[in-house]
Amino acid sequence: MREIIRQGLIEMGLDKRVSPIAPEHLTRYGLMLLEKNAVMNLTAIREADDVARLHMLDCAALLGCCDFAGKRLLDVGTGAGFPGMVLKILTPSLDVTLLDSLQKRLSWLDEVIAVLALQNIRTVHGRAEECAAESGFREQFDLVTSRAVADLRVLCELCLPYVKVGGQMLAMKSTGSTEETDAAGRAVSILGGRMLPAYDYVIPGTEIAHRVVRIEKIAPTPAKYPRRFSQIKKSPL
Ligand code: SAM
Repeated sequence: MREIIRQGLIEMGLDKRVSPIAPEHLTRYGLMLLEKNAVMNLTAIREADDVARLHMLDCAALLGCCDFAGKRLLDVGTGAGFPGMVLKILTPSLDVTLLDSLQKRLSWLDEVIAVLALQNIRTVHGRAEECAAESGFREQFDLVTSRAVADLRVLCELCLPYVKVGGQMLAMKSTGSTEETDAAGRAVSILGGRMLPAYDYVIPGTEIAHRVVRIEKIAPTPAKYPRRFSQIKKSPL
């Protein structure tokens, strides 16, 4: 796993930009993931090489689309820590909040944080559409990431309220997401965003092409968003 991660970072031109201990820490995290996965459903990916490529390198690719150093980041629907935990390991100066509605996964992430002795990273248990109303959350983050959580129209309502004006939402999607992205145009503008050019990449060692949909926050999100989840699902913007 370590060698695949190390080579992958070199291939993506990221090796000089990340913490020197990152391949070691990502490997430790990946092994903990596989070990825990035997008793808790954390990931459908069960082979070490696949964890290295489809989780670690896939998430590391985000570093190619913007500068994370010293920023404040929220990862919505982090699950087993993707991409938030990977980004933190790669960029120690990043301040990270990992948000999920499933406490079990967050408790495991707390263990990973302790084992790797990571600083300025925390887990928050809650639903994205509810936490946005709490102080210290709304429009407080430079970057909000999300992978495999919801259709982009729904995701925009879950994520954009957290982004500071001038910050960005980064949604990890496949390159086949053009229709989904086009359909989200209205939601993006209602919520105070503006679409930026997407960032496409191929995961090293695979032929899998993924895309980061980038949305810049250009105006505050109207106070009535996010709505209740049933409403968001029933009538997406
Ligand atoms: N981002 C991770 C990844 O790429 O491996 C996890 C993806 S998993 C398919 C979706 C995660 O989003 C689950 O852990 C789920 O609990 C969380 N989730 C879904 N809807 C959410 C919401 N409204 N607020 C917070 N978490 C949510």
